[in-house]
Amino acid sequence: MKAAIGIDLGGTQLRVARLDAQGQILDHRKTQTAARAGPAVVIDQICALVDELRAAALADTAAPTDDSAGIGVCVAGPVDPDAGVVLEGWTMAGWHNIPLRDLLAARTGLSVTLANDGNAAALGEWRFGSGQGCRHFVYVTVSTGIGGGVIVDGRLLLGHKGMAGEIGHMILDRNGPRCNCGATGCWEAFASGTALAQRATELQATAPDSHLHRLAQDRSLTAKDVVDAAHLGDALARRLVQEEGAWLGIGMTALLHLYSPERIVMGGGLSNALPLLLPEIEREIRNRAMPPFRDVPIVLAALGDNAGVIGAGALVFREE
Ligand SMILES: [Zn+2]
Repeated sequence: MKAAIGIDLGGTQLRVARLDAQGQILDHRKTQTAARAGPAVVIDQICALVDELRAAALADTAAPTDDSAGIGVCVAGPVDPDAGVVLEGWTMAGWHNIPLRDLLAARTGLSVTLANDGNAAALGEWRFGSGQGCRHFVYVTVSTGIGGGVIVDGRLLLGHKGMAGEIGHMILDRNGPRCNCGATGCWEAFASGTALAQRATELQATAPDSHLHRLAQDRSLTAKDVVDAAHLGDALARRLVQEEGAWLGIGMTALLHLYSPERIVMGGGLSNALPLLLPEIEREIRNRAMPPFRDVPIVLAALGDNAGVIGAGALVFREE
């Protein structure tokens, strides 16, 4: 049996896993990414974890053979998969035009495939998660930002330089709030967990009875605070969650019109609140989408925090 090594390189965490062809994690390691130390140090971190996993696999089998079929890496930021280059690593110092594929291949002796994290997670959900059986679906991850990936006509949409599917940066309002990408009014600037926390921070002062107001006296509010307070019936939090659902529904309506998926799969931290958000998401879709698009289900992602490593591993089996 061949195994893939999946690597999820984020600005906070570096996760490495060995996976079988069914997407099951056989073994894994993780560490905090040395995001400020520059690419050379981070590449050392990656190679150390890969070596550990391969050594553990060898020690584990009766007939010790290295069964690694290859390495898939997903990176938080734009990646050119054809050139094997990380164009930009978000929240990692010095990551501009780094030829990560060839660097890792030389160090490990394995073939290496790159993707951006949204595309890899979409591939993972498609092969092994909530997108199974679909020929057309969109994966949306909503946490600090909004990312995702698009599967159409039975393949991952890559586009020029592999950068298609930057769905968080659809501009919905030219006068909207400033986005992390530098533009204004992106979907991410309205509907990410960060945007929800920001709205809560602005509005808590107007609601002295709110649980959020009390929390905000001690620390900055998070999207999870808002969701938790909404679960407790807090009126302001419920209003904020409703507005969040509306922004998500507006963006998802655009995705329905653009890609005509059979299903939209939502992952990321905020997807834990999908049952709360769904009525408003569906209301916006009913009100705004053209009639043939209105019955497309919005479903919860299946792979959770493992979407990145499993998707990265899926890159290897796709190459096979
Ligand atoms: Zn943006």
